[in-house]
Amino acid sequence: MLTDYHVHLRDDDDDQPPDRVAFTVENVDRYLAAAEQAGIGELGCSEHVYRFRAALDIWRHPFWEQQAHDDLDAYCTFVRTTSLRLGLEVDFVPGAEDRTANLLDSHDLDYVLGSVHFVGDRAVDHEGWDIWTRQGDPDEVWRRYFEALAAAARSGLFDVLAHPDLVKVWGRARPRPERDPRFYYEPAVEAIAEAEVAVEVSTAGLRKPVAELYPAAEFAAMCLEAGASFTLSSDAHAPVEVGYAYERAVAEMRDWGIEEIVTFERRRPALEPLG
Ligand SMILES: [Zn+2]
Ligand SMILES: [Zn+2]
Repeated sequence: MLTDYHVHLRDDDDDQPPDRVAFTVENVDRYLAAAEQAGIGELGCSEHVYRFRAALDIWRHPFWEQQAHDDLDAYCTFVRTTSLRLGLEVDFVPGAEDRTANLLDSHDLDYVLGSVHFVGDRAVDHEGWDIWTRQGDPDEVWRRYFEALAAAARSGLFDVLAHPDLVKVWGRARPRPERDPRFYYEPAVEAIAEAEVAVEVSTAGLRKPVAELYPAAEFAAMCLEAGASFTLSSDAHAPVEVGYAYERAVAEMRDWGIEEIVTFERRRPALEPLG
């Protein structure tokens, strides 16, 4: 079985089209056709929570205020008319766990991806809010990032941790900590094991400056040893990215010793053989 659960529905000409353009049967058909071609048995979409007005109940970051145009109920209702699994990519916002839980509990989702894009109010992957322009110390940035990831795991809000080492996204374009990265992974791996949250293997990193999978091989090895389960996704923002570089990802996953992936239906996990 191959899945792609981390997919954003977009129009090719617009990175953030309004829902009347993105959430249409014609647009979904383009993604389904791409998935079929890539041999993907289960396709799910996972829009960013912050594109929906309801997300402003969780956080009022200026970036979220700019993005929050769409209606979350309409999205869920629309996706249920298609053969897509219904997911949502939700930022972990420390201190807003109850408000996040309220939003998630009031929607009948197949799965929730938990993401750490922001550390404090600065982003690890967005140049407009770049954390590196304010707090250049890489040890501090990495430590805080993985602490937030651990807290996201422990929150119990999420089924999957998306792009789990996103902090490396810029590769050599940003400083790397001098310490062995396993020092930073450790608390997150402990939390992942305790919380039994799945870890996403994402090919999106291959399209970014870092040019490697999320998670890094050592991080994956530690998760595996701790008994974690894994999903496989592309973080596609266009049909052409659905199942991106899966041959390479599946080969690396097998090398790491991963033989099964998790699927979700109405937030119930099930293991399927990989590939
Ligand atoms: Zn993300
Ligand atoms: Zn995403």
